[in-house]
Amino acid sequence: MPAQNSFDIACLESEALQRLFHETTSYVQNITIQMIADRKGNRSQEEHPATTIGLIVQRPVIQIADWLGEEERIEAIAHELAHLLLVYRSGLGVVGRRIPRPGDSEGVFRFFMSMKGDWIYLLGQIPNTAHHLILLDFLKQEYGIEDDLHTYLLHQNFRVAANDNARDRESQYGLGLVAFEYERLIGKFGRAIDMDDRSEFFWEAYRLAHKYFGRYDFRSTPTAVSYQEDILSFLEALGYPREDFIFFPE
Ligand SMILES: [Zn+2]
Repeated sequence: MPAQNSFDIACLESEALQRLFHETTSYVQNITIQMIADRKGNRSQEEHPATTIGLIVQRPVIQIADWLGEEERIEAIAHELAHLLLVYRSGLGVVGRRIPRPGDSEGVFRFFMSMKGDWIYLLGQIPNTAHHLILLDFLKQEYGIEDDLHTYLLHQNFRVAANDNARDRESQYGLGLVAFEYERLIGKFGRAIDMDDRSEFFWEAYRLAHKYFGRYDFRSTPTAVSYQEDILSFLEALGYPREDFIFFPE
């Protein structure tokens, strides 16, 4: 990969964004922002013009697509910074699968049997959805930043994902979570996708998301302990052993 230049947010001339950046760097230093040409997500049809890498090693790199307009760049960077605040200030980290210890033959078996599942989609979506219920309001109320870009992308990507027929159990759970997020942030999800041919996996995750994350919002941000407990309970209710999962940063 070619070297990427870091992007200076000062050129966006947003006082709110600069304040948010300073607030975030008081919890995690070494934040880099990069403009990336033609950024594409790992699911080809979905649009993901912004992301953050390096969370686990505490050296976050925010990457945003260079085709975003100025206002969208402000929203996209603010959105990623708010994710970082939730991780490093509030302790609401990301969740991954624990790689079983050598010798734990049952664990190793389970790990490899479920490798084909789209775990990245499901496990990525859980903290994302939980964060979004909090951070959109946080940005609006504390910084006066309306994250229209997120709402737009949520609508677009939800429709794309719902039309993808080759979806396994983990992806359908992930989609159920997105439907829950859609309802909380936009409105009835039947506006965006056809509700009739959704699988029982989809509905199960949708119902459990309401149960475990329904109370999340800016005014009631969970503690790190209850957040982890909610996620593990959610995964357990979907049929996965809770000891298979681990949170980052530890
Ligand atoms: Zn996000």
